[in-house]
Amino acid sequence: TIAAGVSELGIKLFRGGAYKPRTSPYSFQGLGLEGLKMLAEVREVFGLGIVTEAISVESIDLIEKYADVIQIGARNMHNFDLLRRAGQARKPVLLKRGMCATLEEFIFAAEYILLEGNKDVVLCERGLRTFNDHTRNTLDLAVVPAVRDICHLPIIVDPSHAAGTVRKVIPLACASVAAGTDGIIVEVHHQPEKALSDGPQALSFKMLGQMIEQVTQIAAIVRQDSVTLAT
Ligand code: PEP
Ligand code: MN
Repeated sequence: TIAAGVSELGIKLFRGGAYKPRTSPYSFQGLGLEGLKMLAEVREVFGLGIVTEAISVESIDLIEKYADVIQIGARNMHNFDLLRRAGQARKPVLLKRGMCATLEEFIFAAEYILLEGNKDVVLCERGLRTFNDHTRNTLDLAVVPAVRDICHLPIIVDPSHAAGTVRKVIPLACASVAAGTDGIIVEVHHQPEKALSDGPQALSFKMLGQMIEQVTQIAAIVRQDSVTLAT
C-alpha cells in the first residue's frame, strides 16, 4: 500500500527495513528474509529501487541479492567489519551518520567502504544527540556544506529521525534543500498509528505530496545561486 502511494507521487527509491536495529529488544525486529522478499516484490511491481538496512555482515549476503542499495544505520557507522563488507558489495551504500560522530569520523567511516573498492557511497545526515529535547535528534544541516568543502560524495538528509514527530518533518526537509542536500529520505505510512516502527514521525501520503511541492519550489530558488546580500 505504501509503495503504491509513494510511487504515484513520483518517488524513485523505496526504503524499508527487513533487519531493524531497535533500541528495545521487545520492539518489532523486522521480518528478515521474508521482509526482503516483500521488498523485492515492491521492486518488481512498482519499479522502485530498494534501499534496506544491513545490521550484520551475513545480512549483506542476502541484501545484495534482493535490494539495490545497502543502508548502514547510525548505530553501525562505527561497525568496521560491516563497513568493510559493504565495501566489497557491488551495490551502492547509504551511510548514515552516527548520532555522536564528528564530520571527520563520518568521512573516515565512508573511507572504510571506499577502500574496499566500492566507490558508490551516499552520506546521510540524520541528526545528533544533544541536550535538546524538543526533537528526537538535533539536525546538523551545516554538515551539508561542510561535506561539500572536503569530499566529493553526495549527501542526503533524513528529517524524520531528526524530527521524531510529524509536525517538524516538512520544515526540516525544506531547510535541508535550502542547505543544498542532494536528496531526502523520509518515512511515510498510510496509517501511522498502526506502524510497527517510528509511526509518530511518518508522513501521510498527503503530507508527502505537500513536502514534494514545497521542496521543489525551494530547490528551484537555491539552484539559481543568485542571492545578493548587503550589510
Ligand atoms: C532508519 O533509517 O530506519 C534508521 C533506523 O535510522 P538511523 O540509523 O538513522 O537511526
Ligand atoms: Mn525509522
